[in-house]
Amino acid sequence: MSISFNQAYDLVCPTCNRPFTADTWVIVDAEERPDLALAVREITLHDTVCPHCGQTGMLSAPLLYHDRTARAVVFGVPRDMPEAEWRELAQGLLWMLIGALPRPQQLPYLGEVQAEDGLAGVAAALGQLRPVPLSAIDAIGDALGSDDPDELPPLAEAIMELLDAKSSADLDRVLNAYPFLLDAAMDEGLAGLAEAATDQGEFEIGQAFERARIVLTQLRQTLDRAAAQQAATTQPTPAEPVAPPPASWSAARRALLALEDSAGLADLLAAHPVLAESSADSWLAEDEQSLRDTGDLGQAQLVAEARALLRGERG
Ligand SMILES: [Zn+2]
Repeated sequence: MSISFNQAYDLVCPTCNRPFTADTWVIVDAEERPDLALAVREITLHDTVCPHCGQTGMLSAPLLYHDRTARAVVFGVPRDMPEAEWRELAQGLLWMLIGALPRPQQLPYLGEVQAEDGLAGVAAALGQLRPVPLSAIDAIGDALGSDDPDELPPLAEAIMELLDAKSSADLDRVLNAYPFLLDAAMDEGLAGLAEAATDQGEFEIGQAFERARIVLTQLRQTLDRAAAQQAATTQPTPAEPVAPPPASWSAARRALLALEDSAGLADLLAAHPVLAESSADSWLAEDEQSLRDTGDLGQAQLVAEARALLRGERG
C-alpha cells in the first residue's frame, strides 16, 4: 500500500474561467517518494496548470509531510484556513498516514506534528529538521516539554495528559482539549502504537498506550451509558397520583361551592381546615374534570370558580 496520498481538486481557471480537475498530493512520505519530497523542497508540489489555456498557479492545499529517517511529521496549513478546521484536517491526514505505515513504524513520534505556514513553511522547516530523538520516551518528553503554540496538540501529549489525570475534572479537561481521543479509531490507533512500541523494546511506552486504551474504552462505555440514561429520563413521567380526599372533604366541598364571595373564605377555612390542605386544589381539579367528562358543564364551571376563590384569584 502506498503511503503518499493525492486528492482530486475541482478548480476553475482564473484566466479562462473553465473548470478542470487537479490531482494534488496531500500526504508525502519522503522515503517512499523522493521525487515528491524534492517538489516540496522546491515548493512546486502544489503547482497547477490549466489544461485549457496553460495558465499556471499554486493551489492552497494542505500537506502532511513524513520523513521516517528524521522522525519528523510536518503539516503545511492551507492559507486562510480557520484553526479549528486545519487541526481537524491535520488529524484526519495523520490517521491516514499512521494507518498506511507498517505496524513496526507506527511510533509515538508520529503524534508530534509540527505545523507550518503552507507548502513554503514546510519547505523551510525541512531545512532545519532537528536530529532524531533517541527513543520514544524522548519523543514524548519533547512533546510534553514543547511550549511552541504553533505545534499541533500532539497525540503523545494528549495520551500523557490522559494518563496523568487524577480526577474526573482532569479527564474532562483532557477530553475537551483533545476530543479526538474519544474517536472509535483511537482504539485501533493506540493498539497499533502499543504493539509498535513493544516491538521496538519500548515496554514502558507500550504499557502507557495500553493503559490509555483501557481508560478510553471505559470512558466511552460510561459516556454511552450516560447518554442512554439521559434518553430514558427525558421520557415523560406520569403525574404523581393524588391521594384521595379524607371523609371531611365532602362537607367542606359543599360549603365551598355554596360560598358567594371571598368575604366568608376565612370563616370557611376555619370551619373546614381540609380546604387549606395542599391537595385541595387537585381534588377540586379532578372533580371539575369528571364533571366536564360527564357533560355537566354548569357544575364544572361552579367548581372552577370555587378553585379560583380558594386560590385567592377571585373576589
Ligand atoms: Zn485556463
